[in-house]
Amino acid sequence: MSKSLTIKQENIGASKYAVPIRQGFLNETLEKTVRDVKLGAIVASIAFALFNIVDYIAYREIYFLLTLIRIGVIFLNLIIFGIMHSAFGKRYPLVFSMLEYLICGLSIVFMVHISGGYSSPYYAGINLVMLAFIFLLPLDAKLTAIICLILYAAYIIPIVVRQRIERLDVFFNNNFFLLATCVVVIISAYLSNQMRYREFSGRYNLAQANEELKKLDTLKSQFFANVSHEVRTPLTSILAPVQSMFQGDVGEIPPEHKHLIAQVYRNALKLLDMINQMLDFSKFEAGRMQLRLRPMYLDELARDTVSIFQDVTERKGLKLQYIQQEELPAIFLDPDKVERILTNLIRNAIKFTETGSITVRTGAGIGLQYFEVRDTGIGIPKEHLSNIFKRFQQVDGSSTRKYEGTGLGLTIAKEATDLLRGSISVQSEEGRGSTFRVEFPYDLERIMPEALLERRVHERRRTRFEYDGDERRKEHRRQEDLARINTPDIALIEKEMLEVKDRETESLPASPGQRIGKVVLVEDNVDLRAYISKMLSRFGHEVSTAVDGLDGWEQVQNHLPDVVVSDIMMPRMDGYELLSKIKTSEKTRGIAVILITAKPELESKLQGLEIGADDYLPKPVNIRELDARIKNLITTRKFQLALARETELNTRMEELSMSFSQSLEIRDFNTAGHSRDVLNLGLIIAEGLGIPIDRQLRDSLLLHDIGKLGIPDRVLLKESSLTPEEWEIMKKHPELGANLLGHFETYKEISAVILAHQEHFDGTGYPNGLKGEQIPLFSRIIAIADAYHAMTSNRPYRKALTPMQAVSELIEHRGTQFDARLVDVFSDGLRRRRIIPPVEIQLEKGRQG
Ligand code: ADP
Repeated sequence: MSKSLTIKQENIGASKYAVPIRQGFLNETLEKTVRDVKLGAIVASIAFALFNIVDYIAYREIYFLLTLIRIGVIFLNLIIFGIMHSAFGKRYPLVFSMLEYLICGLSIVFMVHISGGYSSPYYAGINLVMLAFIFLLPLDAKLTAIICLILYAAYIIPIVVRQRIERLDVFFNNNFFLLATCVVVIISAYLSNQMRYREFSGRYNLAQANEELKKLDTLKSQFFANVSHEVRTPLTSILAPVQSMFQGDVGEIPPEHKHLIAQVYRNALKLLDMINQMLDFSKFEAGRMQLRLRPMYLDELARDTVSIFQDVTERKGLKLQYIQQEELPAIFLDPDKVERILTNLIRNAIKFTETGSITVRTGAGIGLQYFEVRDTGIGIPKEHLSNIFKRFQQVDGSSTRKYEGTGLGLTIAKEATDLLRGSISVQSEEGRGSTFRVEFPYDLERIMPEALLERRVHERRRTRFEYDGDERRKEHRRQEDLARINTPDIALIEKEMLEVKDRETESLPASPGQRIGKVVLVEDNVDLRAYISKMLSRFGHEVSTAVDGLDGWEQVQNHLPDVVVSDIMMPRMDGYELLSKIKTSEKTRGIAVILITAKPELESKLQGLEIGADDYLPKPVNIRELDARIKNLITTRKFQLALARETELNTRMEELSMSFSQSLEIRDFNTAGHSRDVLNLGLIIAEGLGIPIDRQLRDSLLLHDIGKLGIPDRVLLKESSLTPEEWEIMKKHPELGANLLGHFETYKEISAVILAHQEHFDGTGYPNGLKGEQIPLFSRIIAIADAYHAMTSNRPYRKALTPMQAVSELIEHRGTQFDARLVDVFSDGLRRRRIIPPVEIQLEKGRQG
């Protein structure tokens, strides 16, 4: 325990794998040394034998002695060669490698001494040994240096001690070469060791990474299997009661609920089928799938399976036929596995074929029986053919893929075929169709006798007694039985998939009595589509449905709904593309879009909202929540539309009022700008009073003189003062204006204001002699603004007054002609705007005056 802990702590040091790598490298070096010492022994023996020829030519007088030495060296090398095969040699390979090196080196040194010492040409032999062993043995620089030192010492010491050196040049030359060789081999040993270490650590890290990956893969498969298993248990508990309901075992179910039960049942089966596929796959992967061999008829199985899928293919408008080439004898196979292979191939053929036919054939070849599934479907592109049997491989795995699937069907078919020692192959042409062929050997019972069912039955009988007492096992077996899914079930699931075609575009009216808004629902899953649209229409929405993004886009353009509810992963056009189409088209930009998706990542949410989705809901969809969000969006949209309409209306009205007042100005150019100026002056009073400045006030101010349109030119445009009779005509204008505007619904309310704008606060005005508060507030405001503007404008018959003079006039008629409070508010407003001077200056001026 403590040891493993220490190693772990060391591992966390400077380099994560420092200790294990060093150890691994050392182990590998030792193993290599064992092999290299053996090779070294053989190479050295051969070389020593060959160089005996040189002895004979160069030193015939001591040839015998030299030969003896060589025989001795070869003999010792062979002994080392032998030892390296023993456990002892393998334990101390370094010792023997040095020994081998020294034996060869020292024997040459000895030959040097007996053949002339410092002048002997045999010193070249020492160089040769040193260089050769650099390549032969994986010694490090330190050991190489020790050996070099020993060899050089053995060479030089006897020469220096016993020999008289007569030829210094030869002495130096030989020593120089010898020492240079020593340096070269030590450096070489160092470098080659480094290189080997680097190469080793590369390999080592790769192996480690591989190991980790393998572990992860195993863990993942294990997790996969566990989860699938855990999911299967509750699922089978759902399936059993639903199946009873579906089959009518628990009494009559109201027809409006029947299809819901059927939907739950089919989808639970579909889910179970998927989980079973995953479990099968993980069993195959872990090598835990077992064979149960028994004799069976391949043609019978094929015929039965084809007949089960007949209904489904008819629904899709395809022809499914079985062709029996010849009557086949019984063959030992595992019927379960063979059926699974065949159903997987037929399902794929149905799935990937839109028109034409599917043909299943059985037959026999030499030592084998086979079946073939041929379709006239979409085919498989050449580049995908080699991968098609690998796990999770799908030709189109993108978010817009048209066909559902896990990508495990063919992997399971291949694994099952391999287990049966058979072979599976495919021929396919894109756009024309595919043919899958599966072959089984005849003699499986001979190749794998242990898989024979009779034997298993026998073995099980022996242990049956133990099983019976074990309740948990019994429950487990019951669950297993429930979890089995047979071919008719699969055919039912496939039929369900085809409903997609049948219900291309449905439009469900809202439930009677309520109609909240128009919704287009875009969802490729037929069940979900049917369920959501049904519920939404029950909640009062008018729902149109679409099977994918492209269809959805068409529906949106046709129906111009309030809200679009769309899935993301869909064939042909996905939810994102649909969303961006809706949000970039002028016509559909205002439509709210809710995205729903099974993609759990936040990323997809962001992507959706970025393109402009108004809301986002994860699957499984809570239908009440969806309803609430749709209603929210519809209310917001209606509000926005109303707001837009009101703004539009207000603009139009303002334009109308403007054009009314302009028509007056065109006639009476003297008053050009009068209406607009009165409007602005009136607003000063309204602001001082703190009342809202609304359209009614603005229109009253702007249109107060509109009645002058009815005054004849000779009076209206007269340049000199009016006669009393003309005044009478002129005084008709409030009534004329009120009458004129009274014809318009929108101006009805202000006509009373217009009528009273010439009334005086003390009741001396016209036309009705109203008094004080009887006069509408707006009329009193107009009276002041109108009078001020008239006084401060030039007229043909008099000059304009200054603002201050005009205000003085107003003040003079405070409480008589004008509402005193309003006159004060007005003069304050003018003062604040510096149109007239502040009070002090006024007083000052007054005093001076
Ligand atoms: P799945 O059908 O669940 O995707 P499979 O392992 O059964 O997985 O098939 C893998 C892929 O091989 C499919 O996704 C499809 O692209 C391709 N394929 C299989 N059978 C056919 C077929 N009969 N015609 C065309 N393509 C096929």
